[in-house]
Amino acid sequence: MPDAMRAKRASQDPPAPIPRMVKCPQCGKSVPWTPESRYRPFCSQRCKMIDLGAWASEAYRVPAVEKDDDETSSDGGDHLPD
Ligand SMILES: [Zn+2]
Repeated sequence: MPDAMRAKRASQDPPAPIPRMVKCPQCGKSVPWTPESRYRPFCSQRCKMIDLGAWASEAYRVPAVEKDDDETSSDGGDHLPD
């Protein structure tokens, strides 16, 4: 439970009535960091799924075969293999 740590850390701060706002990593929408926000830090299930899908796509794009990276040390990230 993070509550103990949180209480200890924020002992000198008054309890904030306004929940901490985070930005949806997918669309940038402000999302209150509360238990009600089931998909936080995403604003909705849709954004969460989009992000997870993108992550999975990236993961699957990682080649399973190890190649000696003597001269292929460049890691731009935007390179699309043919
Ligand atoms: Zn969103």
